[in-house]
Amino acid sequence: MKGYAMLKIGESGWIEKDVPKCGPLDAIVKPLAVAICTSDVHTLWEGAIGDRHDMILGHEASGEVVEVGSEVKDFKPGDRVLVPAITPDWNSLEAQAGYSMHSGGMLAGWKFSNFKDGVFSEFFHVNDADGNLAHMPEGMDPADACILSDMVPTGFHAVELADVQFGDTVLVVGIGPVGLMSVAGAALRGASRIIAVGTRPVCVEAAKGYGATDFISYKDGPIDEQVMELTGGKGVDRVCMAGGGVETFEPAVKCLKPGGKIGNVNYLGSGDYVNIPRVEWGVGMGHKDIRGGLMPGGRLRMEKLSSLVTAGKLDLHPEVTHLFHGWDRIEEALFLMRDKPADLIKPVVAID
Ligand code: NAD
Ligand code: ZN
Repeated sequence: MKGYAMLKIGESGWIEKDVPKCGPLDAIVKPLAVAICTSDVHTLWEGAIGDRHDMILGHEASGEVVEVGSEVKDFKPGDRVLVPAITPDWNSLEAQAGYSMHSGGMLAGWKFSNFKDGVFSEFFHVNDADGNLAHMPEGMDPADACILSDMVPTGFHAVELADVQFGDTVLVVGIGPVGLMSVAGAALRGASRIIAVGTRPVCVEAAKGYGATDFISYKDGPIDEQVMELTGGKGVDRVCMAGGGVETFEPAVKCLKPGGKIGNVNYLGSGDYVNIPRVEWGVGMGHKDIRGGLMPGGRLRMEKLSSLVTAGKLDLHPEVTHLFHGWDRIEEALFLMRDKPADLIKPVVAID
């Protein structure tokens, strides 16, 4: 089979590999659509997870089951499925402890294009099919379904980590495809005011649609100062971090109210330390929580999040700004994600 792979840091191309083998609990799936992620860019061009050789890229897909193992109960060849980017081992001790995403070690629930070949391939392997796949709802567009692999569960995880409550004022740092889903998630959780950090018109429009009420730019001076001005010196109850780098934590802590919470899902690709401002952190006693996490994967989460779409409470369309058709467009879509033109939110490739 052919797949689009990271050949080494900074180099990618098509390669030939054997079709993966299906264990008794597993499934082999062929993609119906795949989406390119900023994490693919971090992996390939920044070497953020270290060197990988001839590893097929991609972790966002919807697909059709072509083979299942002898122990798989709920899926069969021909089923159309949602595939989470994170596919934990559900019988691991970490999963039993409530941290499925770290099953097998820190971040090890992230298997596609990290510890094994990813989804930019004619066929890909899904471990624990009953625990990780979900049936694609009737009538859902496979291209939209890709957004459920990672963007929705990750953006919403920032909201979960920040523990957004009714009436909260929430700051969302970064309104790329992940941050937009944090805006949507915060609105669904009952935030009253959602201040978004971002200025690209396409993202601002989408963020308004998802419930953002105010906009600021990190290019117009320190975020915390702008937030303090907007909130009459009070600050925010919650912060969702979905953009920027290690430097975003300092302003976030500064404009967070005592008792406030920061939920980070941003992949910190460089810098050795995160600076926490001592005084604004209440000299260590401010009850300002900082939490960061890889999104939980798995079937239940996929089913619940997709039910928001089928119930008409979450629209995935505004996320997909660039829809390509056919295998041979994957490279173009990947390079587009790296170069991030002003009109881009998310590139998706439908495998017609
Ligand atoms: P993106 O690059 O499309 O969006 C990030 C946005 O942040 C951009 O619009 C950028 O302009 C903005 N930004 C840059 N510097 C900023 C600053 N200093 N302050 C505020 N905003 C700033 O990325 P994305 O696809 O939306 O993904 C966001 C992050 O989430 C990436 O780092 C990605 O790797 C990560 N991610 C994490 C998980 C997880 O499970 N935790 C999953 C998927 C992606
Ligand atoms: Zn992703």
